Amino acid sequence: MKNYKPETLCVQAGYKPKTGESRIPPICQSTTFFYGDTQSMADCFDLKNDGYFYSRLANPTVAAFEGKVAALEGGVAAIGCSSGMSATALCAFTLAGEGDNVLCSRAVYGGTFNLFGTTLPKLGIECRFFDPDSSAEEIEKLIDGRTKLIFTETIANPAIVVLDIEKISAVAKKYGVVHAVDNTLATPVLCRPKEFGANIIIHSSSKYLDGHAAALGGVIVDCGNFTFKGNERYSSFNLPDESYHGLVFADLPDAQFATKCRAQMMRDLGAMMSPQNAFLSYLGSDTLALRMERHSQNAELVAKFLAAHPAIESVLHPSLPQNKYHALAQKYLPRGQGGMLSFTIKGSAADCARFMESLRLITQETHVADVRSCVLHPASTTHRQLSEDDLKKAGVPHNLIRLSVGIEAAEDIIDDLDSALSLAFKN
Ligand SMILES: *Cc1c(COP(=O)(O)O)cnc(C)c1O
Repeated sequence: MKNYKPETLCVQAGYKPKTGESRIPPICQSTTFFYGDTQSMADCFDLKNDGYFYSRLANPTVAAFEGKVAALEGGVAAIGCSSGMSATALCAFTLAGEGDNVLCSRAVYGGTFNLFGTTLPKLGIECRFFDPDSSAEEIEKLIDGRTKLIFTETIANPAIVVLDIEKISAVAKKYGVVHAVDNTLATPVLCRPKEFGANIIIHSSSKYLDGHAAALGGVIVDCGNFTFKGNERYSSFNLPDESYHGLVFADLPDAQFATKCRAQMMRDLGAMMSPQNAFLSYLGSDTLALRMERHSQNAELVAKFLAAHPAIESVLHPSLPQNKYHALAQKYLPRGQGGMLSFTIKGSAADCARFMESLRLITQETHVADVRSCVLHPASTTHRQLSEDDLKKAGVPHNLIRLSVGIEAAEDIIDDLDSALSLAFKN
């Protein structure tokens, strides 16, 4: 399936029925699987054959979705997780342990920021945050012998920061460190981070992949392009794993990261995607390529409209020529820049509330990246706990509104924004 375009992979990859079987993946709602002889089951436990035996580790419906996302990202294997957050956590735990450190971009999803900044340190894993816009030299200074992971995001909200993936991948490669990219808001339809050197791709499939706000989920993709064998930084891949009869993960022919992640971390932490959610996500992702095209077109039109509106102070969307990330977006997101957009109004937090409450079509939600347009006021919601100073650092002023542009008719979205701005600013 490797040479097909994303449009084709969205509808064809991950599942191929045999004669007489259902055309789309059946929901295999079973925790456990039958074996007629003892040896085949033992071989499963030894990772010698890849049959299913327990749905905490692998399930046929989940495998269909995993196969589709792996094909879309050009990876060698993928793991379906219960949420995007569990995907990120499992990725970190597969690579790092007590005494190690990870580097994380400051422009990441809020949950990721908390996981790396608060929870991992409690377990003895230090996190060193960096500004993704800083130079390779600045970022390199943070790496030492115990650095196990560099974690970044292709498009980060609410400031809509576009990552220079090649810059970070080059640093990671120079030091033999794994580079993981959260590609949730770009999706493999708009950007494939592997092509720019990323080693692991993380998704919250709760967003565009599912696309319908129906199923929580996450995916970890192993790009199969990192050499663990002989890399002293990753002794846990090079030493025998006693919980697997002395298996050395670095010696596996492929998917060393994904195999270790599933066999150890999924086994021990159990944050597996459910078959029902895998089915919904598989189904939703059939239309991913079509939707991303429309999300991007609509967001570009909305960005142009807002940028020209007298009540608007600034608009953040990489499609705008004046945007700080316009040049990077032309390189990394040439097919479209996605539906995430932020803007500041000429007014206060109270004016933002008046405007948002005047919207009739666009709803207020914490969710983003599904078919329906929605808005959020980050300073009073997702970033509510931050001090004035931290709000400034995070690029979240009190007059900032985040808009996830859906696939409704662009005219209707713009009309709703226009009417609400008129109502909110009429005096
Ligand atoms: C939502 C989101 C996550 C977390 O995913 P959940 O499925 O909600 O756990 C991670 N990264 C990004 C970019 C997200 O938007």
